Amino acid sequence: MVDEKKIWTLLNERFDEFQIMDEFQRAKIVSQILNKTYPKINVPLKSRNVFTLLISVLLSAQCTDVNVNNVTKNIYPKYYKPEHFIKIGQKKIEKLIKKIGIFRIKAKSIYNLSKILITKHNGKVPKTYEELENLPGVGHKTASVVMSQGFGNPAFPVDTHIHRLAQRWGLTNGKNVVQTEKDLKKLFTKKNWNKLHLQIIYYGREYCKARDCFGLTCKICTTCYPNRKKPFIVKKP
Ligand code: SF4
Repeated sequence: MVDEKKIWTLLNERFDEFQIMDEFQRAKIVSQILNKTYPKINVPLKSRNVFTLLISVLLSAQCTDVNVNNVTKNIYPKYYKPEHFIKIGQKKIEKLIKKIGIFRIKAKSIYNLSKILITKHNGKVPKTYEELENLPGVGHKTASVVMSQGFGNPAFPVDTHIHRLAQRWGLTNGKNVVQTEKDLKKLFTKKNWNKLHLQIIYYGREYCKARDCFGLTCKICTTCYPNRKKPFIVKKP
């Protein structure tokens, strides 16, 4: 006679042993490790007000934060309002930021954006995504960073780096940053979004670089994927 109870107990034990974590369990582990690794986190881009933060984020496209800070430290003491950039004009802005990639396009955006801020927004940086994303050179990621770091509103700006880490950690299988942002917002509590965004950026820069690792060495991946044997290949956004 087959002992059904015994068989079910055995099956449950085996299931527990091989059970694969779901994305919420992985998110919890990621959050715990990031909090231990980066208990305090600073905003990497230097600025002196929301306007200069917006300019710095715009300048940081395809450029390192260190490079942006090195350039802006000579600009912001003197020029830190839209009026200042209108007054000096596009050519002078180009000169000031010429050590930064695609500086001509960025100078044009800074100049036009400053004009719009003055004519439409009383010289202030607007506080809605729609208005921010209507400014020249400002996409959803830039707007999200300003919302988060400038206004303290919960946002989860996702760039290619955050997209890469979220995939390696099994928090998304999204093929693009839009889907990844949606998935991350579902997995983490709103009040932690701003902090997590920075923690993930720092972790990516320090440990989880684009070419250096494929999900087999450090604690986050070995805890979330103890059975992973082959390199994990990220889907490009
Ligand atoms: S094991 Fe590799 S992919 Fe996973 S978190 Fe560490 S560095 Fe990133």
